[in-house]
Amino acid sequence: MKSASKFEKFAARCWNLLNEGKPFTPIFVIGTMLIYQLFASNTMEEWQAVGSSFLFIVPLLVLYFIYDFPLFLRNYLWIPFIAFILMGGTVDFPLMFLALGLYFFFTVFFWGTIYYYLRIGITLWNFTRFWKLVLKNSDSTSGNAQEQLPKFLLILMLWQHFASGQISSEAFNYSDLGVFYGGVLIFTYILHRYLFDWKPKPYEQYAEMPLIDSNHQTDRVVVIVIDGMRKERFYEADTPYLDYLKENGTEYTNMETVYPARTVVCFSSMFTGTYPFEHGIKSNMVYKLGIKTESIFDSLRKVGKKGRLLGIAHLVDAMGSDVETVTAVMNNDQADPNIMQRAKKIMKEQDPDLFIVQMIATDQTGHSRGVLYDEYLQKIKEADALVEDFVGWLQNEGKMDNTTLIICADHGQADGIGGHGHLDEGERFVPFIMHGPTIQKGVKVEERHSLVSMASTLAYILGAPLPDHARGPVLKEAFLKRKEKKNE
Ligand SMILES: [Zn+2]
Repeated sequence: MKSASKFEKFAARCWNLLNEGKPFTPIFVIGTMLIYQLFASNTMEEWQAVGSSFLFIVPLLVLYFIYDFPLFLRNYLWIPFIAFILMGGTVDFPLMFLALGLYFFFTVFFWGTIYYYLRIGITLWNFTRFWKLVLKNSDSTSGNAQEQLPKFLLILMLWQHFASGQISSEAFNYSDLGVFYGGVLIFTYILHRYLFDWKPKPYEQYAEMPLIDSNHQTDRVVVIVIDGMRKERFYEADTPYLDYLKENGTEYTNMETVYPARTVVCFSSMFTGTYPFEHGIKSNMVYKLGIKTESIFDSLRKVGKKGRLLGIAHLVDAMGSDVETVTAVMNNDQADPNIMQRAKKIMKEQDPDLFIVQMIATDQTGHSRGVLYDEYLQKIKEADALVEDFVGWLQNEGKMDNTTLIICADHGQADGIGGHGHLDEGERFVPFIMHGPTIQKGVKVEERHSLVSMASTLAYILGAPLPDHARGPVLKEAFLKRKEKKNE
């Protein structure tokens, strides 16, 4: 029952630099160039040329840092690359092959095999599958080959073109570079302005607390987030207990996650009730620690109640001391049983009014083995059994008597390395089930809702004020109507 150590929290942040696509691109470009020049550059002048020509690629590094090219927009990244060649840019084939080799070594062997082997005990043969996942992957990590390749290849070729001093009047020269950058900037802007149109539309207004019906309130709420549980795969998995909760509770069948669908972003949105532009957490890589708005934990404190979130180290970056961490370094078959054991301990010792538990094994199996394989369904099945065991334990401890239960995922997962972020197929709509003494039975709410409604709904049930920037309206459809309650 280990918590995440200080070292693990630090290591998790360092790993994010290589794992998130945005910081990865510049780090990889610079690293690859340095390795290449160790063999190619001999004189001081050559090294100086490499250093000074770095300035020419800074605009492109910045542009590609600001702009992801999500999903099909990735294909358009080859156009600037081709334009560079047509304008007379040099393609340095040895550098190109070095970059490709390093990239696939990093993603397929280092990350997909060695890293997962050491961290969660995956097979050392995982590379035989992982290369396929990297090629298909569509998320916002460095494992998105279709986005990373055209980005780093262009930047490297451009850098080497100027570093090697091959600029003549006909070749791609300084004024060509100006024209090129102007073109790429306009091109990027147009693509993102007119083609990137699938982000969920945020609620424009702040939520209002509805008149509180005390019949809807319970003493406690337990939220179990099965991280990365893709909705249609959940339906395909063998989950007798979650099916029971679904049939005896209320299921939201069109519950949408937020953009970008990264774990720390989604958790921040669920428990503040608002979006990244407001709570400030825009990826798993958190540069400035802490959410910028109130969370449900702050709301509960105002009425003398207590909330706890049990989850992985990354969540501390967003929600600080309201988080109890679990270590994510352990065999993936033991990860969730370990978390649930820890959950029981926290429940026993701290008895929080709101208890949120993040189960991670399903997400980790999706990332390491892919979501379209049986291992993923198996992990969902195991999660189902663990939830049943935990709720049974709560009942025995007398902690379920007046408790609302919410089971959901923070995001789904796409094909490839189970990635998520850009809302590819399988990521957008998540399972969402409510169950409890004040929740309607056997109801399916088909209307579209958003996970940002979580915070308001928790505040409503627990009699706390809304977090100050909560935008998601309370999920009122789930609650028993007054008469039904009386008839019981
Ligand atoms: Zn997640």
